This record gives sequence, structure tokens and C-alpha cells, in this order.
Amino acid sequence: MASIDLSAITLTGKDSNSTPGTLQTTRFDQSDRLKRALQRLGFFWLLAGITIFIPLAHFVLVPGFFIAGPVIAYMTYQTHWVRNHAAGVCPTCQQEIQLSLDARDQLPKWTYCPTCNAPLHLTEAGDTSTDTAAPNTP
Ligand SMILES: [Zn+2]
Repeated sequence: MASIDLSAITLTGKDSNSTPGTLQTTRFDQSDRLKRALQRLGFFWLLAGITIFIPLAHFVLVPGFFIAGPVIAYMTYQTHWVRNHAAGVCPTCQQEIQLSLDARDQLPKWTYCPTCNAPLHLTEAGDTSTDTAAPNTP
């Protein structure tokens, strides 16, 4: 069964103020990964079956979905965890913020505060990483 994992992170602003935060990650066990992979395989093969009835386009869509099914299923099976979001207090504007993350995001990561648009550096709590180069301002 999938489990939600909360881990402590540190949000650091450009002026080196930092606040604690949490990082939510969904972890999948063996049976979840297999179930998710089979769902995707079934979905893509269903699309391949449905697109048989579309004239001309079926020459591309049917083999495309048929081949994409196992590829996507394999990639899904290899996914052990997915990042959900990070939450905390922005060190610059002191607002409670929630940052949506990409599924494969790794820490440390630079992002921006959704409230004040200040750059934020997300690191694992206690991590004194040397990756402190500021991103280019948008
Ligand atoms: Zn802010």
C-alpha cells in the first residue's frame, strides 16, 4: 500500500534567513507499483483498441498506443516514490506557503515563493549543501 512520508526540510531565502518546513512524498511498495503499471498498460491498450475505429489515424495511433503501453508501464513500475508538495513558512514574507513539486524533484532545489516571488532554496533539514548558487531571476 502506498504510504505518505513527511520529512523535514529547510526553506532558505536569498538573505540566508531560513525556516523549517515539511516535504510530502508518496512511496509505493511492490504491489502498488505492479498495480499502477498494469493500470497504465490496460489504459494504453484500451486506447489502442478504441482508435482502431478511427479511419486513417489508426495506422499511427494503434501501433503507437500498443507500443507506448509497455513502455509507460515499465517506467511506472520503476517509480518507487513521487514528490507531492513542500509546505512551510516563507523566510522572506513570513506567509504560510505550499509549493507544488514535480514527481521526480530532488533536493536541494531552488524555487520561488508563490506569494512574494522571492527565491527559495529547499534543502533537507540539517543538510549544509554547497549548492547555494542563486538561480537567475525570472
Ligand atoms: Zn514569500
